[in-house]
Amino acid sequence: MSENGAPVSMDEIKALCKRRGFIYPASEIYGGLNGFWDYGPLGAVLKNNLRDDWWRNMVLCPPAGPDGEPLSIVGLDSAIIQNPDAWVASGHVGGFNDPMVDCRETKNRYRADQLMVWVPKDGQGPKIAFMEGEQPTPKRMKKIARSRPADDYEAVGLESIPLDQYEGIIGPDTNNPGTLTEPRQFNLMFKTFVGATSGEDNVAYLRPETAQGIFLNYRNVLDTMRVKVPFGIAQVGKAFRNEVTPRNYIFRSREFEQMEMEWFCHPDEAGTWFEFWKNARMEWWRSLGISSDNLRLRDHDQDELSHYAKEGHGTVDVEYRYPFSGDGYGELEGIAHRGNFDLTQHQEHAKTKMEYFDPERNERYIPHVIEPASGLTRGVLVLLCEAYTPDPNRPSKVYMNFHPRLAPITAAIFPLVNKDGMPEIARNLYMQLRKKYACQLDVKQNIGKRYARMDEAGTPWCFTIDGDTVQDQSVTVRDRNTLSQKRIALDKVASYLAEKLDG
Ligand code: ATP
Repeated sequence: MSENGAPVSMDEIKALCKRRGFIYPASEIYGGLNGFWDYGPLGAVLKNNLRDDWWRNMVLCPPAGPDGEPLSIVGLDSAIIQNPDAWVASGHVGGFNDPMVDCRETKNRYRADQLMVWVPKDGQGPKIAFMEGEQPTPKRMKKIARSRPADDYEAVGLESIPLDQYEGIIGPDTNNPGTLTEPRQFNLMFKTFVGATSGEDNVAYLRPETAQGIFLNYRNVLDTMRVKVPFGIAQVGKAFRNEVTPRNYIFRSREFEQMEMEWFCHPDEAGTWFEFWKNARMEWWRSLGISSDNLRLRDHDQDELSHYAKEGHGTVDVEYRYPFSGDGYGELEGIAHRGNFDLTQHQEHAKTKMEYFDPERNERYIPHVIEPASGLTRGVLVLLCEAYTPDPNRPSKVYMNFHPRLAPITAAIFPLVNKDGMPEIARNLYMQLRKKYACQLDVKQNIGKRYARMDEAGTPWCFTIDGDTVQDQSVTVRDRNTLSQKRIALDKVASYLAEKLDG
């Protein structure tokens, strides 16, 4: 069981992802690198499929707006490294900081806003710190608190504890009190150097979000694409943050991918569009088969709001019930009303006019922005968690219940045995289907083992060619979820798949 009552644990999901080629630790043969992950053959396809679905839903076929008219959203692919002045204007050089706390003994580093502390209600004995969602185990409580029950403590955020009481706190990975430093600000941007010399003049940054590349090109798009406010610019790509505590598998990584869309609108209409995008985004996640029980929308509290979201309609998060979210849910996507903060900043710093002349209103203004910003790699984590389905009645004991349009392999083709004309028919079928569908031909091992592999890969349909196929040109199709098997005509396999995928 996971911490929040979800029936599976993160360790089980991680193990499957490793053994089936979804995700590997980056540079594993060198011992890995904290916060970096590689996507294996199946993971890369799953990620691409999610990305493509987002792109289709945002750029190629966006939802109709509140008045039923199709929305206008264009795509973009901007550089990862931009002029460093852009990050000064956006506020990232000055303000993209997390408060961090070091442990002097273990040299571990934690984000202060993610550390919780158990404070004894009677004021006696040490205070016990732990990472949010990772409460101390009974074994640890036995060791450091002589088995005092959790009821004896009250959980509070580290940031609410005065500094002069830090000496009484036992850090998350030590048994001794007083090892935590006071919180210090830590800039999350990765620095690099452009050109042959590595002086301060050549410093540049790896982008910490894809959004700014969009604001930098707002003027270009406006001048070249015949768009009219309201319109959107969407982009998918890598982002880098030197996270203080990368953790929870790929949830918080140092290199990750984002899918962001900036929706430019008239300031008076920002409230309507904020509501619109909140609902549209939830609907999209649900369309991928994520259950409503595991998704929720949460408004940001006033003290959580980013510098740009303090005014206007705020920020709301789409949250998912990850197996590791001790208190229930964790962020998947943020939908923010950024006001005209970014465009105004760039107008000032780059000395470039960001005003829009609205011919219908006969008015000049800097548009407001509603931003649905989600993590692509975090979305992959949600798909993996959601798909993992234990089932004691099958050899694999588990199957991945991916939505068929996202599954890395759509169909597998097996000859029952590798002789008697079966391999040839299987190969022909494979050569035909692979032109259109992600297919795998697998001729090795007994059929049960082949089904088990495909269950763990999340392949919705397996087609088996057996002795009867040679006689009557029919095949068995096995359904991943129901395990039902039925016979269909060999020449109907392609239309069977088309119908299932469209249906
Ligand atoms: P946090 O407060 O948790 O650090 P954030 O609110 O700053 O995250 P945003 O800047 O709103 O995150 O980024 C938009 C989306 O990008 C997030 O909803 C998340 O899906 C994804 N994301 C952000 N940081 C990371 C990360 N370190 N690893 C993976 N995905 C991330």
